[in-house]
Amino acid sequence: MEELRTRLFDRMKFYRKQCPYCKHHYWTLNKDQESCGDQPCTPYLFIGNPPGKFRPESIRDVRERFLNFFERHGHVRIKRYPVVARWRSDVYLVGASIYDFQHGSPRALYHHQQIH
Ligand SMILES: [Zn+2]
Repeated sequence: MEELRTRLFDRMKFYRKQCPYCKHHYWTLNKDQESCGDQPCTPYLFIGNPPGKFRPESIRDVRERFLNFFERHGHVRIKRYPVVARWRSDVYLVGASIYDFQHGSPRALYHHQQIH
């Protein structure tokens, strides 16, 4: 595991430790940390103890905040419209997901899908 040690970890004073529960090795800045912090070695600490102050928002409010963020950064809002995923034979409409970032020729994507 020493091959994973880097000058950055040394300079930042990371500690290399082994979780007593799952036996996986991990890096931490907390010398006293006992477990790896992953599930199921450590319980979820944020349940009942959120990291910030949240107020319940409707999906409409979340969407508005999202769009306002991009408008503040020079983007222009356009009217909503459905997008047909012509480059995907397994879906009809483009969901709000990675589909939106798949571009290039449909043939190239089809070829990619045949390989994988
Ligand atoms: Zn663990």
